[in-house]
Amino acid sequence: MSVTTPMPMFFIGHGSPMNALESNRWTTAWRQQVAALQPKAILMISAHWDKPGLRVLTEPHPRTIHDFGGFPPELYQQQYPAPGSAALAALLLELLADDGAAADSQWGFDHGTWSVLCHAFPAADVPVVQLSIDSCKDAAWHLALGRKLAVLREEGVLIMASGNIVHNLRLLDWRDGPVPDWAVQFLRKVQSCIESRDWQQLTNYRSWGESAALAVPHPDHLLPLFYLLGTADKTEPLQWFNQDFTLGNLAMHSLRIG
Ligand code: ZN
Repeated sequence: MSVTTPMPMFFIGHGSPMNALESNRWTTAWRQQVAALQPKAILMISAHWDKPGLRVLTEPHPRTIHDFGGFPPELYQQQYPAPGSAALAALLLELLADDGAAADSQWGFDHGTWSVLCHAFPAADVPVVQLSIDSCKDAAWHLALGRKLAVLREEGVLIMASGNIVHNLRLLDWRDGPVPDWAVQFLRKVQSCIESRDWQQLTNYRSWGESAALAVPHPDHLLPLFYLLGTADKTEPLQWFNQDFTLGNLAMHSLRIG
């Protein structure tokens, strides 16, 4: 079952749920990035499953959750019927037992997961398991937990984290105006930390001042990134793609590791 090269992994800036219906440069890149990969299963870490205590989705046929409001009816009709994976869910519960991971069969695929996977794996034939984040815990906790996930890559599991590095809904610019300076400043600092593999500095992002406070008013869309970085070997190649802002401050910037 083992493969020689660890599976690459991704942080995806998912942006608006409308990307599920659209075919644009971002969704094209999501598809192209994974086109050559044949994962046995996908571990998806979505910004939209944030709750106290760690949860692993064990449901064999997860429902598609339309966890948003005010969008066109077509979006609510979208389904992503990929199966779950009992084997991957069991392995996660074992790996993360010391962290209090518990089985959950109530959640399903939220839009952080399916709005990306409907483009990346449109056939929905690869089993998917979601792992929650816990914004009551800090970035360092998520980073440390990520280290325990590294073994999955040797087993052909594709790890994908879905969020947005800069995400301030209250300050979105619906006229798609210029990108605010604080958004650029925060994004560049995050990228610089990642390129220099300075996870320590990155976990202290809350101390970076006003740009961080504006870029990350709530940590849910940034925390999935820390699972991914914790999982990474510091010598692995990094590749940024979809380096665009939209609606003012929403960073679509995505990262491939490996
Ligand atoms: Zn989101």
